[in-house]
Amino acid sequence: MASVSTSYAWQTPLKYLKGLGPRRAEILQKEVNLSTCGDLLEYYPRRYLDYTRITPIAQALLDQEQVFRGKLGAFRVRVSPKRNFSLLTTTLYDGTGWMELIWYHQWHWVREQFTENQGVLIIGKPTYKSNTLQISHPEILPLRADTDVQKLLAVYPVYPLTEGLRKAGLTHKRFRMIFQELFQSLRLDLSDPIPPAIVERYNLMEIKTAYRAMHLPTSLEEAHRAAYRFKFQEFFLLQVLLAQRKRLLKSEFTAPAFTQIGPLVEEFYHRHLPFQLTQAQKRVIREIRRDMGQAVPMNRLIQGDVGSGKTIVALFAALIAIGNSYQVALMTPTEVLAEQHARSFRRWLAPMGIPVGLLTGGISPAQRKRILAQLQSGDLPIIIGTHALYQDNVLYARLGLTIIDEQHKFGVRQRALLWEKAQPYRPHNLLMTATPIPRTLALALYGDVDVSIIDELPPNRQPVQTLVYASSQRPQAWRLLQQELEKGHQAYVIYPLVEESEKLDLQAVEVGYQEIQKAFPQYKVGMIHGKMSSERKEHEMARFKSGQTQILVGTTVIEVGVDVPNATVLIVEHADRFGLSQLHQLRGRVGRGSHPSYAVFIASRGLSEQALERLQALQTYHDGFRISEIDLKLRGPGDFLGKKQSGLPEFRIADIVDDGDILKAAREAAFTLIEEDPLLQSHPPLQTYLHYYIKQYGLDFFTT
Ligand code: ADP
Ligand code: MG
Repeated sequence: MASVSTSYAWQTPLKYLKGLGPRRAEILQKEVNLSTCGDLLEYYPRRYLDYTRITPIAQALLDQEQVFRGKLGAFRVRVSPKRNFSLLTTTLYDGTGWMELIWYHQWHWVREQFTENQGVLIIGKPTYKSNTLQISHPEILPLRADTDVQKLLAVYPVYPLTEGLRKAGLTHKRFRMIFQELFQSLRLDLSDPIPPAIVERYNLMEIKTAYRAMHLPTSLEEAHRAAYRFKFQEFFLLQVLLAQRKRLLKSEFTAPAFTQIGPLVEEFYHRHLPFQLTQAQKRVIREIRRDMGQAVPMNRLIQGDVGSGKTIVALFAALIAIGNSYQVALMTPTEVLAEQHARSFRRWLAPMGIPVGLLTGGISPAQRKRILAQLQSGDLPIIIGTHALYQDNVLYARLGLTIIDEQHKFGVRQRALLWEKAQPYRPHNLLMTATPIPRTLALALYGDVDVSIIDELPPNRQPVQTLVYASSQRPQAWRLLQQELEKGHQAYVIYPLVEESEKLDLQAVEVGYQEIQKAFPQYKVGMIHGKMSSERKEHEMARFKSGQTQILVGTTVIEVGVDVPNATVLIVEHADRFGLSQLHQLRGRVGRGSHPSYAVFIASRGLSEQALERLQALQTYHDGFRISEIDLKLRGPGDFLGKKQSGLPEFRIADIVDDGDILKAAREAAFTLIEEDPLLQSHPPLQTYLHYYIKQYGLDFFTT
């Protein structure tokens, strides 16, 4: 029989891998979606165990995984009569000291395979119990005369194992054997997606070496260099896309250049501006003005804390566009916010005779028809609305500026749909967010966006006094509420509402509403939530704003945009169910007038100390940027950004929070590369990789 020499390639199905076998291959497919040798190479370890060094027992460190080498003492089986189980103990001696080894269950195999005086390697975390050094359930490896100890001492990658993998015997030791087999006969036809000049300049490990070093490292240092390389690669690919998109936006698309600031800005500034702009507002308006003066589309994000005054900045941008005879579309994630903006804009623009249209799901068909006609004819200079603004049947005569408020609530696709409403050119784009995003996340997400920061609050703002209460302290919160109501002030009481438990959450709002009505009979209470019609919501908002109701009970539909200076108390029930950034944003609903204000965050019943501590960060910090960093660290980017944020691929190995430095280096490398070689002609493998990457992560919108 001719002997077949095995050789593995990237596409080789795992079932052909010797030492794995078809059954385990099937389990790998089912449990972690690996089907080829290439998939296996990209199964990144979560961490490493350094078993290259034997620790003398006398130098053992507590609670750290270490390797010990010694001889076993006598075995003893002890029966615990009370709890009806038996345990096995023995000792390990190595000449420097001794420790106890203990198994509480499933120890019969130990008893069968090992004997007194036998030489072993022991791997485990020692603890100190009843004056004795002890390891429970250690890994135990027999040492025989022919055992090559050096071969056993290695750096072991630890893979993300599921219960199913573990049951199939796919432990980290098994993975090591499988990778040894794979690399012995691996024929990889791989070109490095990272250009050689960058590999050299950033001292990166070359790709093939890195795959091996990642799975079969000879030292921890080597493993870390390999991990660095793949993290760099993940960030690099995304940043190349961002750099290309930025270049595309700036060089391939034209926008109308508003060379004149226009008569409306002057008129508004000198005759109708209701207050003095802060220095930060002036700076950001100048940045916007500069961008809009160019024939390339502006793509600018304004980050500013709640109450920093972003709306008036948006108004100035709008006045520049309208003054140059172009239309403006302002898009918001909620109807309440759209209505709020429409009110502000109408108030500011009415003296100048500029009409403001409102387009939400809630307006009548007749109104809608009229607005659509006016937009198409160009008679309506400014339209404010929700996602209704980018629907197919909405046509604009001369859309020159889009403003997207709370932009993180929209996906990249949705934003792009609005931008495509301007044809054949692109509009200038202004994005706003009151949930400041940590710098690293902004780099990862918005490589193609210029960022302006409003880091100054309008004068005379008082910091909101923040209280974190256990649910048993609710009476204190209500006393505070009573006191403020007696002073003639108003209050919000907010409940969480998530889709998964929508029914129960709505019930909680209604029960809360009734309880508060009962507890404060001499005051009028309103209720607002997302399931109401938009007329109902607007009606409730208007009643609260005009002071007809004193307490507004609701969900986070009032999170954004509500500006009622007379409201001085905010109570948030089940505060632990919100992210810190969102709570900070809610807190911004009060403290808008000249009176001292209070935010009371009430925790769910039975909340742990730890979770309470998380909330207490809000008592310590009042700066939205600082809070967002803490929030991102605690929740990770997926939760932090929310499900709607479809702009960011899930990184498989890199971590936005911890790998900020790698991100910065990769970004610099990518942007420099695209500047020098925009079409990547000098390095075809990168093009191929990007193709694959875009498909894998569903990032097609990057190419439009
Ligand atoms: P946000 O940045 O949260 O959107 P807004 O634009 O709603 O904040 O502004 C919050 C409040 O502050 C509004 O009532 C607004 O009119 C007011 N405001 C904005 N800028 C100034 C300023 N420079 N001086 C005084 N009040 C201001
Ligand atoms: Mg706002």
